[in-house]
Amino acid sequence: MLQHQGSGLQDKQLIKNFSYINGSWHSSESNLAVTNPATGETITEVGNAGVAETKLAIKAAKGAFKMWAAKSANERAGLMKKWFDLLMQHQDDLARILTLEQGKPLAEAKGEIAYGAAFIEWFAEEGKRIYGDTIPAPSGDKRIIVIKQPVGVVASITPWNFPNAMIARKAAAALSAGCTFVVRPATQTPLSALAMAELAERAGIPAGVFNVVVGDDARGMGEILTQHPDVAKFTFTGSTAVGKSLISQCATSVKKVSMELGGNAPFIVFNDADIDAAVQGAVMSKYRNAGQTCVCTNRIFVQREVVAEFTEKFTTAVAALNLGDGLVDGITIGPMISSDAVNGVDALVKDAVAAGANIVLGGQRDSAGETFYQPTILTGVSNDMAIASHEIFGPVSPIISFETEEEVIAMANDTEYGLAAYFYARDIGLIWRVAEQLEYGMVGINEGAISNAAAPFGGVKQSGNGREGSKYGLDDYLEIKYLCMGGLGK
Ligand code: NAP
Repeated sequence: MLQHQGSGLQDKQLIKNFSYINGSWHSSESNLAVTNPATGETITEVGNAGVAETKLAIKAAKGAFKMWAAKSANERAGLMKKWFDLLMQHQDDLARILTLEQGKPLAEAKGEIAYGAAFIEWFAEEGKRIYGDTIPAPSGDKRIIVIKQPVGVVASITPWNFPNAMIARKAAAALSAGCTFVVRPATQTPLSALAMAELAERAGIPAGVFNVVVGDDARGMGEILTQHPDVAKFTFTGSTAVGKSLISQCATSVKKVSMELGGNAPFIVFNDADIDAAVQGAVMSKYRNAGQTCVCTNRIFVQREVVAEFTEKFTTAVAALNLGDGLVDGITIGPMISSDAVNGVDALVKDAVAAGANIVLGGQRDSAGETFYQPTILTGVSNDMAIASHEIFGPVSPIISFETEEEVIAMANDTEYGLAAYFYARDIGLIWRVAEQLEYGMVGINEGAISNAAAPFGGVKQSGNGREGSKYGLDDYLEIKYLCMGGLGK
């Protein structure tokens, strides 16, 4: 076992240093350091697995598939419920591990553990409702029956911004459908994934059903996960650029694919909105996880009459955020994932200022450390500036004022992305018109927190395809089989 420092955990066995394949922990020839983005300190080292271990994990998942698929939905649900219970029993430790490797404030990390676990609980139940169909046949001597079956081995690659929940959302649906699962978590955040594997094992999830392969050879491991003949489905959460190349890799063996990719969420405040509620929703949807979520507000559009009031109240609320190490009490916004990420955000802010935007708040790196960027608000932004057309993925709010409903819908939709959108208004006619015209997979109406296990999460346009969560989320892990029963005439 490798050394780990200062974890402060009640259950130290939750820190795992090896990939989890076929129910056992696999050491590798070299190691990867996992660092705390708030301090730059090494938390621990993890074995650096690669292509060979990825193939082993797929073999394990293939070997376990028939056994897992043959279990009744009730049996699978029982094991998944035990997994859920253990995740919630260890919520504090899991949150601490998550904050250590990812940076978000501890309270937010606890929220992510509960959010991720909720998918496991919800899909454990939903797996009992995988119904088929009977269809009236065109001739009397035939019957048409439709059954649904698990697709097989599911392979996945997940990002660092939700090290627990992005895995839980996929694994929950896959396992409840009867599929087995291999995940390669982001290199920066493997510990949350490995802790989930430890608890899956304690819950009695059989060997080979849930496998975690950790390694920094993203490209090499990705090629195996997307092209191996024994993988039936590939699911990815991450950037649109990487997602596009993974889709084309999957094409070589025509895999079922689902993609949760980047976003450029508009947040629209109309003249008749409840401004205080809009401010609260904007802070939540923008600054959670230091602005590093795919559904984060990216552009704030405010109608002319209320732009001064909104900007003033929003600035007061954002100025009250407390930036620092997420493990420290009272911190409400943590570091960004890396100094490179800070550089990217800073470049976008500088570009906007050079193009005529004004800094109302922040606008620079913070003295707390090289991964810290101050919560920032810009006014005088236009929709064609880079800060509006790029996914910012950091704690910066560009405010753009508008005059009419038509104008703001055109600006909101003027992007290749289509994940989440938000708007605040009271006029019921306007609410329906805007909700129907926004080209987004999810729309928050007078609401800044939209995601939960019961609702379908996913995007349109270049934000991806497929849905996670809800009854629709199961379809991605199921094949429809049509049984044509003939010879029934006299
Ligand atoms: P990223 O660069 O696409 O990385 C995501 C994952 O892909 C990581 O595990 C990464 O591994 C891996 N990866 C990178 N290059 C690869 C390659 N050539 N082949 C195979 N795997 C590869 O994305 P990110 O910057 O970490 O994450 C942020 C992005 O994810 C944002 O665009 C955000 O909007 C999106 N996101 C979307 C959702 C959603 O549900 N729609 C949710 C969260 C995040 P390494 O860690 O080794 O680089």
